[in-house]
Amino acid sequence: MIDISPELDGLRATRAIIDLDAIAGNMRALRASLPEGAKVMAVVKADGYGHGAPWVARTALNAGAASLGVATVSEGQHLRAHGIEAPIVLLGSIDPAEARGACQAGLEITVADVRLLEAVQHAARESELAPVPVHLKIDTGLRRYGAMPEQAPALATRIAGDARLRLAGIFTHFASADEPEESFTAEQVRRFVTTIEAIRDVGVAVPPLHAANSAGIITGQGAAYEVVRAGIALYGVSPSADVPLLPSMRPAMSIESRVTRVVPLASGDTVGYNRTFRAGDRMIGALVPIGYADGYRRALSGRAWVGLGGRPARVLGRVSMDQIVVEAPAGMVAAGDVVHVLGGSAVDGAPSITEMADLMGTNTYEVLVGVRRRVPRIFIKHGRVVGVRTD
Ligand SMILES: *Cc1c(COP(=O)(O)O)cnc(C)c1O
Repeated sequence: MIDISPELDGLRATRAIIDLDAIAGNMRALRASLPEGAKVMAVVKADGYGHGAPWVARTALNAGAASLGVATVSEGQHLRAHGIEAPIVLLGSIDPAEARGACQAGLEITVADVRLLEAVQHAARESELAPVPVHLKIDTGLRRYGAMPEQAPALATRIAGDARLRLAGIFTHFASADEPEESFTAEQVRRFVTTIEAIRDVGVAVPPLHAANSAGIITGQGAAYEVVRAGIALYGVSPSADVPLLPSMRPAMSIESRVTRVVPLASGDTVGYNRTFRAGDRMIGALVPIGYADGYRRALSGRAWVGLGGRPARVLGRVSMDQIVVEAPAGMVAAGDVVHVLGGSAVDGAPSITEMADLMGTNTYEVLVGVRRRVPRIFIKHGRVVGVRTD
C-alpha cells in the first residue's frame, strides 16, 4: 500500500497501482534466464496489458528490453507520440490500407501474405524511413496469422529482393507452450526449423529469429533464438497454472479502493439489484465504488471477495455498474477504510490475479486487459508515486 501523496489529492478512490519496480525486476529476471546476448521484445499491446503502455515500455527498455511489440498501428503511434524511439514491432495482421501509417510511424510490419506485402512495398516507395523493417511470420500450427511454410521462401525472397525493405526477423507463435509436457510445441519448433532451412536454401540471408512467448521463455521452448517475446511474465503473472513464474518475479498491478458507506443490514434485508442476497442475521455491509463499468465483472456477483482489514470480505448480491457491497468482517469498519480489490500482497486478503481469473471464468490476460480506462493508474517507482493517469 502507498501513502496518500499530493499527486493523489482529488483522485478517485478506486485505482490501479502499477509497480514499475516489479516490471523492471521481472524484465531483469527474464533476461537472466536467457542465453547470453538474447534480446527481449517487451510485448506492450493492449495498453501494456492494461498497465499503461508508455510507462511499461520505458521501464522495460531501461531494464534491458531491446524492442517493443504491439498489436495495432495506433498502439505503435501512441508510443511514438510519447517519444519512444526503440524498435516497435506490429505482431498482428494489419489492413493493407494501414501500411502507409505504419511506415510513417517507423513501425516494423509483420507480413504473411502477398496482399499486405504489396501494400508495404508500395508504402515503402513513398517512405522517407526506408528501408522499412519487415518481419515474416510463419504459421507452424496455431492457424492464426502467418504464412504456411511452403509459401515462406517465396515471400522471404520477395522481401529480401526489395531494396526499400529490410527483412528484420522471421518468427512463429506457439499454440500451447503454457500446457505441461505439450509435444506440439516441439513439433512447431521442428516445422519452424525446416521452414528456415528452406528459406536459406533459396539464398535469403536469415535475419534474427523469434518464437518464444512468456511460457516458452520460462520452459525453455524456442528460447534459444536471437529474440524472445515477453508479455504476461513481464507483468509478473504466470501464463497458466502449469507454468510458474521464475522466483523473484511479482505482479505489477493491484487494485485498491475505499469504503464509501457502512451499510447496516437487519435480518431479512436484501442487498442490490434483484435482491439476490438476503441477510440471515444482523450484519454490516461496506459499499465499495467499483463495478462492471470498471471491469469488475457482473459475473463476480455473489462469488468474489475483496480484502478488508486484511481478511477476505465476500461480495453480497449483484455487482452494479459502479458499486458493490461486501460483507464487512467482524470488528470495525469505517468509511474511508482501504479495500484491496485485486492482487495486492499475500496478506491483504484480496484475490490474486490468478484467483480472479478463475472467479471470472477466464485467463489472467483478460483480467489485466479488462481493467477499464476509467480506473486511474498510479505509477510507483522506488516506493514513490511518479505518475498518475486519469481519463
Ligand atoms: C501477445 C503475444 C506475445 C506475448 O505472449 P505472452 O504469453 O503474454 O508472453 C508474443 N508473441 C505474439 C505474436 C503475441 O501476439
